[in-house]
Amino acid sequence: MNTSEYKRFLHNCSKNIDNSKLELLDVNDIIHSTFDDIDKLKLQASKVRQKFLNNIVDNLLLFEKNVTKNKANVNWCLSYDDFFESLIKLLNRKKIKNVNFFPSDFSEELNLNNMLKSEGISFFSKENICSIYEPLLGIVDTGSLFSIFNSIFEMELIMDSKYKIFIIPINKFICNISDIDIFTHIFSIYKQNYSFPSISNIFTPNSNETKSETHIFIVDNGRSNLLSLKEQRKSLCCINCGACKKVCPVYQTIKDIPYDNSLTGPIANVMLPFLENYENYRHLSFNSVLCGNCSNICPMNIPISNLIIENRKYFFDFKMMDYEDNVLFFSFKKFFFNRKIMNKRGWLKRFLLRKVLPKSVKKQIQLPRFSKKTFYQIKQKENKDGL
Ligand code: SF4
Repeated sequence: MNTSEYKRFLHNCSKNIDNSKLELLDVNDIIHSTFDDIDKLKLQASKVRQKFLNNIVDNLLLFEKNVTKNKANVNWCLSYDDFFESLIKLLNRKKIKNVNFFPSDFSEELNLNNMLKSEGISFFSKENICSIYEPLLGIVDTGSLFSIFNSIFEMELIMDSKYKIFIIPINKFICNISDIDIFTHIFSIYKQNYSFPSISNIFTPNSNETKSETHIFIVDNGRSNLLSLKEQRKSLCCINCGACKKVCPVYQTIKDIPYDNSLTGPIANVMLPFLENYENYRHLSFNSVLCGNCSNICPMNIPISNLIIENRKYFFDFKMMDYEDNVLFFSFKKFFFNRKIMNKRGWLKRFLLRKVLPKSVKKQIQLPRFSKKTFYQIKQKENKDGL
């Protein structure tokens, strides 16, 4: 990006800050007209998700125990490759060549569509032998799966399949079925933006059922990298409602394409460097104006803006930045932490800053304009005047 492109980008972002404020008002209107105390609901929802994450290993094992009691099969997949291998093995074993496939965010992340095509599996079978679907949440204490369907037809197609295959990432679970009503409300408002629930369903495999089989693929695909980080692990509470995208001025400017990934928007800025790799996705953590709209709207109370700052800190602390960025921040630090320099006049500071910065950096950024007096000088004057 050259300087004029960058300026245009910033200009568009600032235009979209106003638009996103309107969007925020719209969404907030719907939310406040539906819930008496939305903050309480958000707090409850985030506690429920954190409760699962804080003890994720035991909870997942308990889910497996409860679901296998009902004769469902659980497949654990660490990576995309594991998942691919296990799924194809299962389809081959059962001689399945046609499936009813319902694309979702996670199936896109796993590139499932192309993967099935490359194996010669065709979509939409009339016989309704096999369906592949991503539920919204797994429920640990009952070994159930919670889903929202677009139509009765879609629900029947999945529920009546001989082989029901569910894929779910390791983080999309809650511990207790009694908490599910919080999420039905949240999904209906935040995900689809209307105030009544669409067709929701809780499916618990039945051990007496002999005519059908249930196979559940629980996939990690990089999420355990986030689990090991105290702050960033909060991003795993995300339920992919997409509300943060609607109110993000940067996302409204750049949209999906620059991400080159199925996960996009503010939460992707936090997660992708850890789910994918630092080299190609680290820059996303700098892809934010930190307006805070995303944190305000998030129904899971994820402090997205703070996590973006945490990522930046992480990359500097672990020396993962490019040479140029390191030089830039080292120079800024040296400059702005020097009280003598900071007390100089505004125009002189600008002049000195221009001297300090390397040419390559100067080309890329706009130098800040300094105010005439610093807070320190104003405070000193106030003290002197006895104010
Ligand atoms: S981060 Fe929050 S607002 Fe954004 S998609 Fe996830 S749950 Fe929704």
